[in-house]
Amino acid sequence: MLNLVLFGPPGAGKGTQSAKLIEKYQLVHLSTGDIFRANIKGGTELGTRAKQYIDQGQLVPDEVTIGMLESEADKYPDAKGYIFDGFPRTPAQAKALDAFLATKGTAITGMLALEVEEEELRKRLLLRGKDSGRADDQDPAVIQKRIDVYRNETEPVRDYYMAQNKYTGINGIGTIDEIFDRLSNAIDAL
Ligand code: AMP
Repeated sequence: MLNLVLFGPPGAGKGTQSAKLIEKYQLVHLSTGDIFRANIKGGTELGTRAKQYIDQGQLVPDEVTIGMLESEADKYPDAKGYIFDGFPRTPAQAKALDAFLATKGTAITGMLALEVEEEELRKRLLLRGKDSGRADDQDPAVIQKRIDVYRNETEPVRDYYMAQNKYTGINGIGTIDEIFDRLSNAIDAL
C-alpha cells in the first residue's frame, strides 16, 4: 500500500493537492477536517461536539478524532492506500495511526510536508474564507489561533516522522501544478 501523510499548516494547500494526488495514485482521501464539517452539516452528535472546538480554532480532542478516523478508514477495506490530510495533528494521533495501520499489516510510507510561511498562510486563509463560507477562515483571530496551535501542538508530529526517516519537506509556494509536480516527484522517489 502507499500510505501518505500530507502535512502542513492551515492554508498550506493540503486539500487542493490531495484532490489531485488521489486521482493520480488511486488513493483514498481521509481529511479529518472534511469529515468533521460533513458531521456538522448533518447535525450528528459528533458534529455538535467537534463544532465547539473548530469554531475557536482549537483541536478536537484526540479520542474523538482518532476513533472517527479509524472508523472512516475501515469503510474502505479494498483501498490501495490512503492520503491522510489534516491527520495526525498531535504525536498521540501519530502513534495511534501507526498502531492502527499495523493491525492491517501496513504502515505509513512517507510524510510530505508543505512548507509555507505564516504571512502567506494568513492571506490564503482569508481569501479562502470569502469563497468557502468556512467560518474558521473568516475571523483573523481564529486563523491566528489555528496557526499557533499548529506551531505548538502539531509541529512535533514532524519530528515523529523524521525519527522514522519518513519526512520530506516540499516547497509549498508556487502554482498548484508546480507544487503538484514537486509532490509527485517526492512520492515517486519513496
Ligand atoms: P482543517 O480542515 O484540516 O483545516 O481542519 C479544520 C478544523 O477541524 C481544525 O482547526 C480543528 O479544529 C479540526 N481538526 C481537523 N483535523 C483534526 C485533527 N486531526 N485533530 C484535531 N482536530 C482536528
